[in-house]
Amino acid sequence: MSPVKPSILVTGGAGYIGSHTVLALKQAGYEVIVLDNLVYGHQDLVEKVLQVELIVGDTNDRALLDQLFATHQIAAVMHFSAYAYVGESVIDPDKYYRNNVVGTLTLLEAMLAASVKQFVFSSTCATYGVPQEVPIPEDHPQNPINPYGATKLMVERILKDFDAAYALKSVVFRYFNAAGADPYGLLGEDHNPETHLIPLVLMTALDKRESVSVFGTDYPTPDGTCIRDYIHVTDLASAHILGLEYLLQGGDTATFNLGNGNGFSVRQVIHTAREVTGREINLVETARRPGDPPILVGSSDKARQILDWQPQYSELSQIIKHAWQWHQHRHS
Ligand code: UDP
Repeated sequence: MSPVKPSILVTGGAGYIGSHTVLALKQAGYEVIVLDNLVYGHQDLVEKVLQVELIVGDTNDRALLDQLFATHQIAAVMHFSAYAYVGESVIDPDKYYRNNVVGTLTLLEAMLAASVKQFVFSSTCATYGVPQEVPIPEDHPQNPINPYGATKLMVERILKDFDAAYALKSVVFRYFNAAGADPYGLLGEDHNPETHLIPLVLMTALDKRESVSVFGTDYPTPDGTCIRDYIHVTDLASAHILGLEYLLQGGDTATFNLGNGNGFSVRQVIHTAREVTGREINLVETARRPGDPPILVGSSDKARQILDWQPQYSELSQIIKHAWQWHQHRHS
């Protein structure tokens, strides 16, 4: 009999990247408990598809957290829950600092009180701001240009200090652009409101929207539109399992970029989506969206070397194909 693997608390496990990671944890044999306030998460995915325990609540609720840690044997926490709309963070920063920073601090305090000292954190390439070089290495200066990125950078700083003072060990993952869906169609991206490029392009292909807006055509890039590094959500999930196991085996606090190291412009994404779907996708050129750096492409050599991370779905067409399968199913 294989030994029972420890229980992992996944905050935000009803969300996009969190739910794909819960699936990967289950497939790797872990017990999983999801904590999600369901503001943006999907109860049906946790209860019907993933079939793990769901505790509906907030990371700002210290009493709930204390009860959760008292009644479950938690070995480590994977923390996905955060508000992640760049535009909204500019308009309503208080919401972002309270949830993303104060909520995380409350969670970390509850962990320490329960002597749980291993933490996997979802950070973002938005902490870098406008890059001085690409692909961006982990030691690139961090100067976020929107409140969302600032909240994530603050938590990174808290984690450094909590390691030094309280020996709380963390793996910080800075994601580039999460995209795609579970290759077997179990899970996918379902934001409300949807603001991300690939789902909006695919909803246009499905005639759920008339056109997709191209935010800015005067960027200093070859075709004038923003360039991003799209990484398959299932590859993100596999990195989280490796990061967790690195910590459970006694690994020290570390930070890793997660991306493919290839950049695609907004126009290239739309072009590839037309090829994958075989549909017309109307586009409308509009003004730049505030808070968007012209280019974000990451170097993930460190994750490949230290965690032996090997992304399986690096092709943009493959990423869009899986997302397309999901959207056809979800919106049918
Ligand atoms: N984008 C766009 N039209 C849209 C949504 C996004 O042109 O309707 C652009 C956006 O400006 C950025 C890229 O697509 O350059 C990816 O944006 P997304 O919101 O998907 O992810 P982000 O880079 O903000 O994490």
